[in-house]
This record gives sequence, C-alpha cells and structure tokens, in this order.
Amino acid sequence: MAKYIFVTGGVTSSLGKGIIAASLAKLLQARGLRVTIQKFDPYINVDPGTLNPYEHGECYVTEDGAETDLDLGHYERFLNIFTTQANNVTTGRIYQTVINKERAGAFLGKTVQVVPHITDEIKHRMLLLGQDDKYDIVLTEIGGTVGDIESLPFIEAVRQLQWELPDEDVMVVHLTLIPYLKAAKELKTKPTQHSVKMLSETGVHPDILVCRTEEPLSEELKRKIALFCNVKQEAVIEAMDASTIYEVPLHMLREKLDLICLRKLNITQFNEPNLDKWKAFLDKLKYPKSKVTIGLIGKYIELQDAYKSILESFIHAGAMNEVKVQVVNVHSEFITDENVQEKLQNFDGLLVAPGFGLRGIEGKIIAVKYAREHGLPFFGICLGMQMAVIEFGRNVLGLTGAHSVEMEPNTPHPVINMMEEQKKINMMGGTMRLGAYPCEIDQNSLAHRIYGETYILERHRHRYEFNNAYLDQYVNAGMLTSGKNPETGLVEIIELPNHPFFIGVQYHPELKSTVERPAPLFVSFIHAAKKFNESKSSVKSTAKDALI
Ligand code: GLN
Repeated sequence: MAKYIFVTGGVTSSLGKGIIAASLAKLLQARGLRVTIQKFDPYINVDPGTLNPYEHGECYVTEDGAETDLDLGHYERFLNIFTTQANNVTTGRIYQTVINKERAGAFLGKTVQVVPHITDEIKHRMLLLGQDDKYDIVLTEIGGTVGDIESLPFIEAVRQLQWELPDEDVMVVHLTLIPYLKAAKELKTKPTQHSVKMLSETGVHPDILVCRTEEPLSEELKRKIALFCNVKQEAVIEAMDASTIYEVPLHMLREKLDLICLRKLNITQFNEPNLDKWKAFLDKLKYPKSKVTIGLIGKYIELQDAYKSILESFIHAGAMNEVKVQVVNVHSEFITDENVQEKLQNFDGLLVAPGFGLRGIEGKIIAVKYAREHGLPFFGICLGMQMAVIEFGRNVLGLTGAHSVEMEPNTPHPVINMMEEQKKINMMGGTMRLGAYPCEIDQNSLAHRIYGETYILERHRHRYEFNNAYLDQYVNAGMLTSGKNPETGLVEIIELPNHPFFIGVQYHPELKSTVERPAPLFVSFIHAAKKFNESKSSVKSTAKDALI
C-alpha cells in the first residue's frame, strides 16, 4: 500500500511548488524508495494542449503522448522517470469523466454534485498510481494557491483522504512565503499565518511548512511560525532562494525535509541518500571551464517558461561539456535580411525553436540561412527543422515560394505538408501526432555518431511533416535525411554533411533530457558550439599576433 504526500501552496503563485515537490521526491527516491509524482491543476481545460504558451508556459509531452503541465518536465528531469497521462489531472478532465458517466446513466437518478461526485473522482485519481504496488510514495502537487475558488474541490478531496486513510499514510506539506520588508529590515510571518489559517478552515492541517525566503530564518522566527501555525518547530523548513533549481534538493536535505516526512509516514526502512551523480552534475554546473553563447530564435521569448525544457536541456548539456551556456533570446519577428548579421554574428550556435502559426516565420528562415552559410552550428527542433527544409528548398533548390501548408496553404511548393492522418481531424485538443515514436538512423550520419544507436524513441507534437514528394531533390542537392520512421518513412532527422554541425529534428529531444541522462543532441550541439567558439578565439589571437 502506497503512502501519500500532498503539496499545497499559499500566499502567492510562482513560489516554485513544482521544484519543492520534485526535490522532496528526489530525496525520497535517493533513499531507495519507489516514488512517483503527479500534478492536479485547477483549470477547466481538459489538458494544457490547447493553451497558448503565454498562459502557462510550455506544454510538456510524455512518452505515452499526454499533453501536460510543464511541472511534469521537472519531475522527469529530477527523478529520471517517465510520467504518464495519469500523472497530470485537471478540473476539466475530472468534470469530463463525471459528466460522461452521468450521460451514461451511471449515477442511477441521483443529483450529481461537487461533493461527493466530483470529489470522489478526484480522490480516485489521487489514489490511482498507488494502487498496484509499484510505488511506496505518491506525491501529489495541487496547482494554484489555497484560497482560490477553483482549487477548493481538490483541497476538499485531500481533507477527505486525511480523514479516510490511517494517519501514517497521508500528510500535507504547505509551501508559503515569508517576505522580507526592506524598510523594516524584517521577515514577516503574517501572510503565512493567514494562509495556514485559510487552509485549516477547509479542514486540512499541514504537517510541514516549507517557507520560501530571501533571508535565513532564525530559530526564534521558526518557533514563532510553528506556534502560530500549529506545527512542530522542526517542521518549519527554510527554503532560501537558490542559485539553480538543481541546488534545491540539497537545501531540503540539509533542512531534513525528507526525514521529517519519513517519520510522519512511519517509514523506517530507508538508506542514506545516494546523490553522487546529482552532486557530480552540480559541481560541473557550478564550475564551468569556459562559456558558449547560443541564440534561441523563437517567438514566445518574453516568457521564459515557454521554452522551459529547451533551457533545462542546455543546462544539462552545458554541465556535460563543462561550459556555461548563455542563452540569448532573439525574437524571430524582428530578424530581417538587413540586420541578421548584426543580430547573430556573436553566437556560437543557433537553436531555432518549435512553434505554431505564421508570426515570426520569415525571421526564422533568415536565421537558418545565416547559420547554413556561415558554418554556425545549427539545431532546429520541430518547427525549427521545418524552417530548415523551407530555407534549403527556397535558397538551394530554387523552389520559389516553398513553404509549409500550415502558413501558406496555396504555396506552389508545399515542402512541409500536413500528415495524411491529420487531414481528417477537425478537433484541436489532443489530436496532434503526440508522444514517443521510433526513428531509424542511417549508419553513416552525424545523428548516428551522436546517438551511437540505429533505433531511437523520441517524443513528438506536430501536425505537419517533410513532404516526401521532394525527397529526391533534397537528397541530390546534399541534404541527408538521416532518420526516418521505420513504418511510414516520415522524415525525422535532416542534416547537412558539408557543414560543421547542421541538424534538424521533427521530434522534441528536449523532452527526454534529465540530469542523469542529458539529451545526446543537446550535448553534441553544445560541443560543436564550444569548438566554434574556440576556433573564433584562435582566429582572433592569430590576428592579434600578426599585428604585434
Ligand atoms: N507547427 C508545426 C507542426 O504542427 C511544428 C510544431 C512544433 O514545433 N511543435 O507540425
């Protein structure tokens, strides 16, 4: 029988609940326990797949093809496990299930209500992953902030579970903020007191308070919080701002968050935490030997969370290469033939980002051309790969007006076309080509050298594909289509062998990069950027020598 830890948030959003939850899960896993982690989101969308990245950041896709909240990305990166459809539940999905049951007559004439029908469905989903003895602990992060109208049914479900399950099988960790008032030079506990009070009014009492703070909490302050919030003093955990999210598990270890949970849950069998790989990664991350600068060409650049997994993959790949990866966002909407040189000349590599729709497309194509012609390491992901195909079509093959039918349905050269199976679909949610599909890699290719394998599984999220009617033209002109889906022939990887590093992939390698298993493509791309940077500096120093 699994035990359940719920993580709630108070005072304000953006306190990093996902990171705290993932850090706690990591520590329990490092102590030898079988842990999984899930997120319950209070919004009415059935899943985040239809949300614009400006709303909640990137949409993370799991191996089994679920479109989920970006916190699942943190869970996978921290725990090195695959999450599934079951690990992300929204209010929309709960209601959809209950309403479908009602339509099927499953409630036998009863009035269908929030309590018990909605809360029963929530509880069913909260307990689901713990039921077949695969896990010792199921951690559930409740999205939103305590006090929001929409998270009430989730909190009520937690209350009922606290009441139904034995005391030692369920606990609640509440994340709050202790703001520091500069003028008063003081940390303030009142917002936390209010937040715990509000939570208690719903009948849920937290066992642990994790307090986000910019300044250390003195024992005296911890005592005050403990007294007013009715928790043990040792259960008031200080969560100071960290220089990187990957530092947080070690902070939580120091504060004994994991041990306090284990004690509350009466778990006595556990090991000393094995965090060797984690610490080795952190060491490399904190003490890089050099730096590379990567231009991230995208259109959602105002919001860092829109490209979360890409940015984290750069961190993993940077540590592997012992370099600091500085990512500079470049808005593709503002790249023109005239300013491209000035905008891109200082980079050691370009990543052209995934995306949808027309806005910013031409700038991406101009950026690809610059990288191709200047031997600048290039990495295109999904839409980025499609832009590389269009650029090559227009500028190398001379296919004037070549385009993707996504942006230009009447293009004379639809080099990127809608996938056959997508043509019959008219609903938006969950209907793209989603999740892991196989890709077979040519032996004689950069991709093969990078992966060291001929058969890989990578995750997808797209409706359009390389149009194989143009395949021969591309291949004859020197583009290598080095990876294909073995059943359908869908082009998954393109590369230019006469370029130092030019690769585009239809899938999203960033979704499988973890601390312990960085994505090979990112690692090689950063390696190529490092070489590019070194060659630039050696050209510079030879020029300087010549002057002397
Ligand atoms: N819009 C493109 C497609 O649907 C690319 C999608 C993406 O970049 N994730 O095929």
